[in-house]
Amino acid sequence: QLTLGILGGGQLAQMIALAALPLGVRCVVLEPDALAPARLCAEHLLAPYTDPAGLARLAECDAVTLEFENVPVEATSVLNGQVPLRPSPAVLHLSKHRGREKAALEAAGASVAPYQMIESEGDLEGALAAVGGQGILKTAELGYDGKGQARVGSEQELHAAWSELGGVACVLEGLVPFVREVSLGVARGPDGALSFGPLVENAHAGGILRRSVYPASSSTETAAVARSLAGAVAEAWDVVGLITLEFFELAGGELVVNEVAPRVHNSGHLTQDGGGVSQFEAAARAALGLPLQDFLPLHPCGMVNILGWEEGHEPDWAALDRIPGAHLHLYHKANKPGRKLGHVNVVGRTREEVLAGMEQVERALGDR
Ligand code: ATP
Ligand code: MG
Ligand code: MG
Repeated sequence: QLTLGILGGGQLAQMIALAALPLGVRCVVLEPDALAPARLCAEHLLAPYTDPAGLARLAECDAVTLEFENVPVEATSVLNGQVPLRPSPAVLHLSKHRGREKAALEAAGASVAPYQMIESEGDLEGALAAVGGQGILKTAELGYDGKGQARVGSEQELHAAWSELGGVACVLEGLVPFVREVSLGVARGPDGALSFGPLVENAHAGGILRRSVYPASSSTETAAVARSLAGAVAEAWDVVGLITLEFFELAGGELVVNEVAPRVHNSGHLTQDGGGVSQFEAAARAALGLPLQDFLPLHPCGMVNILGWEEGHEPDWAALDRIPGAHLHLYHKANKPGRKLGHVNVVGRTREEVLAGMEQVERALGDR
């Protein structure tokens, strides 16, 4: 009987725990929120991420993984050396800071958006012109779901946005004229063996992922480049565990890396129902050093996020249940407008069938 510790007990931990159980693996989550999703399917250590007793219990596991990148350094330094933390503290150190991450991506041979570090007011001077005149200012740390970001189109807007974000360290990125967004997960075992997830096409609204589709409409060449870039980053960063790369695809098929999540990713949820190994199983296997295979769907599939609704706009649950090939996944979270509460995966025989099913799902959710 193996045990896998997880820092964080949200929906990603819930789904890792659900995928790990049939492998004979029990999960233990360290999570301060008493109502966190993973509480129902894993042993729940109800304590802050830095709690000594909680960390001591995680250190007894066979390996520890995580479901968010902003793990406090106090936690990782306690665990380091006592239990394999996968991905490692070094990978977390890179991926939790947008500036360090971009430099490390470039060092691994990947392209990133033009960017300028903004650490003090003086850095604002000339920064927007340097990234192409249109940009997005992002806090260097702690942003997710488009939080901690502002679009800027003039020097004046840039100054206002920087004070609005609290005058903290930021990265100013040039606006990338992408034709689509895609993402790809890669898992690497302790022996260095690589396995890959699908190239998934993603649509965002308001900085939040709304839907993902597999296969992406990218060319097979672009899909191969995405795999080789993901493999190069995993090797250059000496990743053990699973990471996910988010890409902007340009008109000529070139890929620019947006960011790296050192964990399973919302765009990989469709692997739960595509018929192959899921990203959650792959993450558990990679962390524990169990044999790995590619975590690719065997059928076309898609995913639609269920976001929290305003009063009177609850999804039509009965209609959802009637959509052929639709699988409901809920996170047991209280409703709050815009919050990720669950998702619906749709499987079909063709991409067109999947897209049609996803539209039905979106109608049932009141999204269109
Ligand atoms: P998450 O971690 O939830 O994916 P985040 O808060 O880290 O989100 P980003 O991934 O940096 O945010 O950006 C969110 C979305 O905003 C991107 O998926 C993309 O649609 C858009 N975006 C971000 N940066 C750029 C850019 N430089 N050019 C064009 N669009 C961008
Ligand atoms: Mg992010
Ligand atoms: Mg992102």
